[in-house]
Amino acid sequence: MTDQTRPSRSPLTGRYAPSPTGRLHLGNLRTALVSWLFARSSGGAFHLRFEDLDRVAIRPEHYETQAADLEALGLTWDGSPIRQSDRTELYRDVISQLQSADLVYPCYCSRREIREATQAPNGPWSHGHYPGTCRHLTTADHRVKEANGRPTALRVRSHDLSLGFHDLLCGDQGGVVDDFVIQRGDGVPAYNLVVVVDDHAQEIDLVVRGDDLISSTPRQLFVSRLLGHEPPMFAHVPLVLNERGDRLAKRDGAVTLADRLALGQTPAQVLGVLAASLGLSEIGEPVSAEDLVERFEPSALPRAPWRISDEALETSSIGLAD
Ligand code: GLU
Repeated sequence: MTDQTRPSRSPLTGRYAPSPTGRLHLGNLRTALVSWLFARSSGGAFHLRFEDLDRVAIRPEHYETQAADLEALGLTWDGSPIRQSDRTELYRDVISQLQSADLVYPCYCSRREIREATQAPNGPWSHGHYPGTCRHLTTADHRVKEANGRPTALRVRSHDLSLGFHDLLCGDQGGVVDDFVIQRGDGVPAYNLVVVVDDHAQEIDLVVRGDDLISSTPRQLFVSRLLGHEPPMFAHVPLVLNERGDRLAKRDGAVTLADRLALGQTPAQVLGVLAASLGLSEIGEPVSAEDLVERFEPSALPRAPWRISDEALETSSIGLAD
């Protein structure tokens, strides 16, 4: 039987793409570790990219804290980290190309209008999928909407295409692509567009990220198709949960590297904890990132979320909740 988890023998370029909105927590660090291990164990490059287009959410000190925490764990990257905020010209060019080819259209809907339209009984759209309200507006309709001063987003014409992919960790996946936003109402290029532009520009072979983003992947495959790019491979990592089964968050306790160090753990011990949760070390064993490259076995990666107990978060002993 072929191992579907091991993508290939050739070097794979990988990346980690955090938003500098706060300190990275154990879940973020663990995803970064998996991405780094896929790349480094194949002999490939690894890039750090800051997703910082949402200026309201950005806290500038966290470019530094996030890079420093990755470095403290030995998760090194090649070249300088890139910031999406330095690349808006490139994104605007891509958006202009899509506009010229009539592959996108302006949308004036508010969130509320979309919510109401998608909640209509027997509607064909699942929550969050755009129902196509502005898809066929006439020139006269556009004039009226624009005169009303509505903020204008840009959406792709998806033709409700269904796109599938094989995820290295989650198996066969896919879904219907709606007419999603590629430029927000405030003019900011949207995540699903810029991530594809950057993954292509940096020649990323394998995208590793949290499985909360798995439902965005068909949209990104659609963007790759529009732009004529060969899409990367994907591995979505199950999230880290607290004892109650909610996604790990700052309020859960000592969840950042700085918090763990303050409790007396060393970076090697914290890395050991992350590695143990991935089946790569014994609980309590201090390890280096380089040790883990030797041991990395994609087929042994867990397919279920990692649950951390409250007690483990409050003390320097951290393990797996039962
Ligand atoms: N910025 C996203 C996050 O921090 C990751 C996006 C991606 O990897 O495509 O979860």
